[in-house]
Amino acid sequence: MASKRYRLEWLKLLLGLVVLGSYLSWSVVERRLSVEAQEYKRLTAQTQIVDNYLNDQLAAISRVLNIVRNNIPDWRAANDSMAHANHEMEEYLKALTDVRNLSVYDRNGTVIASSQPELLHKNYQHRAYFQTTLNDPSPDTLHIGEPMLAVTGLYVFMVTKRIVDENGEFDGVVLASVDPLRFRTTLASVNYADDMWSALAHSKGKQLLMIPEQEGQRGKNLAQPGSFFTRHIESGRDTNLLTGTVYATGEKRVMALRTIRPSGLYLDEPLILAVGRDLDAVYKDWKRFALTRLIFFILISLVSCFLMYRVQRSKRRTEKAKRASAALIQQQNEQLNALNEELRKLAMHDALTGVANRRSFDERFELEWRRCRRETLPLAVVMIDIDYFKAFNDHYGHVIGDQCLQSVAQQLQQYSARGSDFVARFGGEEFICLLPNTDFDQAAQYAESLRLAIEQLNIPHASSEVSGRLTISLGFAVCIPGNDSASTELIVKADECLYRAKAGGRNQAVGVDGCGAPG
Ligand code: GH3
Ligand code: MG
Ligand code: MG
Repeated sequence: MASKRYRLEWLKLLLGLVVLGSYLSWSVVERRLSVEAQEYKRLTAQTQIVDNYLNDQLAAISRVLNIVRNNIPDWRAANDSMAHANHEMEEYLKALTDVRNLSVYDRNGTVIASSQPELLHKNYQHRAYFQTTLNDPSPDTLHIGEPMLAVTGLYVFMVTKRIVDENGEFDGVVLASVDPLRFRTTLASVNYADDMWSALAHSKGKQLLMIPEQEGQRGKNLAQPGSFFTRHIESGRDTNLLTGTVYATGEKRVMALRTIRPSGLYLDEPLILAVGRDLDAVYKDWKRFALTRLIFFILISLVSCFLMYRVQRSKRRTEKAKRASAALIQQQNEQLNALNEELRKLAMHDALTGVANRRSFDERFELEWRRCRRETLPLAVVMIDIDYFKAFNDHYGHVIGDQCLQSVAQQLQQYSARGSDFVARFGGEEFICLLPNTDFDQAAQYAESLRLAIEQLNIPHASSEVSGRLTISLGFAVCIPGNDSASTELIVKADECLYRAKAGGRNQAVGVDGCGAPG
């Protein structure tokens, strides 16, 4: 029962810990989701800033290329052989922050005008950007060339548009050489944490720029299986938020990717922007939060389990001590009861013969007297006295005398077999028998049978004057107890009869019925 209670207590504790654990887990998960959502929101906002900037820049370049292209017929018509064009383009260049030079190529790829005069007359017809522009019949397309290593050691990319003659045939290329390093400030401004970097790549995969710069990253081809770049391109979406390992650096990151595709411009190849954070840094605070909760939970669990164990152990000890003391008390009570029973027996029995003593007889006699009076039943009392017992003692000694008394008592006890018959030592060598519901004849018969029984014990009595063996004399009285008669009267009468039996020669029984004369 107690162990069931203890188990229940453990179950309750366990339940409490499960509830606490669930709450803490929920708070940790909730915190992670909120960190994630916040970070995604911020990263997305950062890509939007760069997107806006690049949109403006590309739109401006497109507009200037259109102006240059539109001016070409006029410049050609002038007789200063495009010198004027060079000058004008230098002016346009000043309005474009990210462009290093503006040039016009003829249909063969030779520079016929440029904001950088040293490029004049050079031929670039084999360059990919020239070929791409040549092969695309649409004059509206804004071609974004793959990044290429410039003489400066930096990667640049060419933005070109096709020039067509009055017949719509290819007639050259207008070109803006874009120096992505100029984007450095813009890209750097979106990096709001130390662990961040942002990068710009061509849609074919070549990386233009990465801020902060990392060794060997410029010009790297990002179009590798499973890279953020590839995942973004394959998703077919213009914006993505991805987590995973960065192909170029091997770091674990969360990345916001965006395809830069300005509306109103017909870009053949867009630019891909990536802004990301280190995952460990993003979740650093969250990890600490989760760890403190985990430690808190472990501590709470350990402490509560320990306390529960201690409390239950002390309860068990107390209960054990209680049980032990209860058992001891019970044992002592039993001993006490046994002793009391012993005492009661001693108080009610004669020590020498083992039959009831006088006191016990008196109680029983009063009881039976009242019962027989109530039920109008005859009650008989038989007084027994050993004949010449003084002489017996004198002859055989007191020890044999005592043994003789014991034998007589035993015999008397044996012969009063009825449950209601009662034998007691009345005093000295006198015994008394109480026989409820016994009339005179039955009492006479009984007295005689007792006398015979003692005689048959054959206890030698050399000093007896009536026989050579031990004999007894008996006096008995029988009456139905009445309201006016006293119980002691019956005993007195039995005693008188005994006296008569003695006087009449001993070894005989003399009785009286009620108030009648002795029989
Ligand atoms: P009578 O036939 O007239 O009864 O003769 P008696 O000698 O028996 O006379 P009485 O009954 O007066 O004697 C009682 C004797 O019983 C006295 C005493 O020596 C003996 N007696 C009484 N109590 C004890 C006892 O406890 N042990 C022993 N051994 N003897 C006892
Ligand atoms: Mg006597
Ligand atoms: Mg006697």
